[in-house]
Amino acid sequence: MSQTIGFIGLGNMGGPMAANLVKAGHRVLGFDLSGAAMSALADAGGEKAAGIAELAAAADVVVTMLPAGKHVRQIYQGEGGILENAKPGTLLIDSSTIDVDSARAVIGAATELGMPMVDAPVSGGITGAAAGTLTFMVGGTEDAFAAARPFLDIMGKTIVHAGGAGNGQAAKICNNMILGISMIGVSEAFVLAERLGLDAQKLFDISSTASGQCWALTSYCPVPGPLPSSPANREYQPGFAAAMMLKDLKLAQEAANSSGAATPLGAEAASLYTLFCNSGGESQDFSAIVRFLRGS
Ligand code: NAD
Repeated sequence: MSQTIGFIGLGNMGGPMAANLVKAGHRVLGFDLSGAAMSALADAGGEKAAGIAELAAAADVVVTMLPAGKHVRQIYQGEGGILENAKPGTLLIDSSTIDVDSARAVIGAATELGMPMVDAPVSGGITGAAAGTLTFMVGGTEDAFAAARPFLDIMGKTIVHAGGAGNGQAAKICNNMILGISMIGVSEAFVLAERLGLDAQKLFDISSTASGQCWALTSYCPVPGPLPSSPANREYQPGFAAAMMLKDLKLAQEAANSSGAATPLGAEAASLYTLFCNSGGESQDFSAIVRFLRGS
């Protein structure tokens, strides 16, 4: 059944996600601060909303895809925001990658007003957003998850219920902390191998079938050669930009601090990616950290 979906945040990810909802036959009202992003949605068959209040009042479902927690808090809980204007029963889906505390606070406020809400951050990047093959990591009640699922199925391929409110964000930052740490580990090994006169291809052949095997090595090898599909073979064009990895590592550190978890390697990974980004690496793929570690 066709629903009216309000979509706020029509950027690199939100734009193609909203277009997929249009293609599936829904009426999509979009809002973004960027006029160009609004026009792109209109070209794809969506409608431009005059503002957040109008969009929220008209929608059966609201999806948000915003940069950070402060935007999400403002747009949901601020004056003239979604919670003030949506009808009780409106389904709310936030797919932005944000801090766990903000996700839980906004979902708590929405639930009190009778609006089921999930946090549903994604992985899969802009290619996955365009192809409708994103992975959604979802936090919220069973009922909210069940209500959100048909819409997530349109925008994604793998939809996982990770538990209660905020657990989608928790899954996303824990996964990306593993990835950031393991990419640094793999990169250090290639730098050491170079110094020891061990050929990169030989290290790849051995470690990819030995106990050093991991995704950062076998699906995203940080040096050119062994894996033709990895960004290392195209001058480290992203892929997944180092600035995005740094954002997620910082979110993991915030969560570690507020929950009292010990994550010493996560902290070190955040500080190495900070140095790398500050030295000009922020728009390169995150695997280019190997160049920073090598010093070239
Ligand atoms: P983006 O900067 O391209 O898009 C964000 C959009 O939000 C922009 O168009 C901006 O104008 C809009 N916006 C900001 N404040 C607003 C406001 N007050 N009202 C209306 N619109 C507003 O970012 P993106 O790459 O689309 O990422 C969105 C989210 O998805 C982020 O949380 C990011 O971490 C996450 N994410 C991105 C990727 C990726 O590969 N790009 C992958 C996974 C997750």
